[in-house]
Amino acid sequence: MAKKKVVSRQKKASSTGKTAMDKPKCGLCGKSGRLTLTECCGQVICDDEDEYVMFSFARNSCHRNHSRYTLCAFHFNEGHTGDWRECDDCKGEFETELYVSYGTNEYNFVKLANPPKFKPTRCAKCKKTIRLGEDGYSISGGKYFCERCTGLDIAKLLSK
Ligand SMILES: [Zn+2]
Ligand SMILES: [Zn+2]
Ligand SMILES: [Zn+2]
Ligand SMILES: [Zn+2]
Repeated sequence: MAKKKVVSRQKKASSTGKTAMDKPKCGLCGKSGRLTLTECCGQVICDDEDEYVMFSFARNSCHRNHSRYTLCAFHFNEGHTGDWRECDDCKGEFETELYVSYGTNEYNFVKLANPPKFKPTRCAKCKKTIRLGEDGYSISGGKYFCERCTGLDIAKLLSK
């Protein structure tokens, strides 16, 4: 299936700026601490999943970020075939905006070359643009609400 030719690496490695002397480094943050390889794409990445605090939603774990917020990992976990960047199944799974975000965010080693265009999502209440990949938001009745408006609603509920 893979028709791509393996490019010989015997030529100067300088095109990537790497030399054989380099210590392995996380491909996302560049740290060279405890490292592992991603299951989905075999890239060197921080082995830091256990530093994640449950339910903190912190995004300080390279490994977790890649396995949670990228199409690469999703595609792998869902057992899709081929390259995730050409995968129609992945495209069908997400809102276009999320698809683009998951395919181009900083947790990717390789990004979508030609991300599809999408209309920005706006808060149904205050009309602020919500970046689905980054901002907090809630969905209610098929409508999106920004973090602020969601918070206001919760405050209202709590004060009752
Ligand atoms: Zn890292
Ligand atoms: Zn991957
Ligand atoms: Zn896929
Ligand atoms: Zn709002």
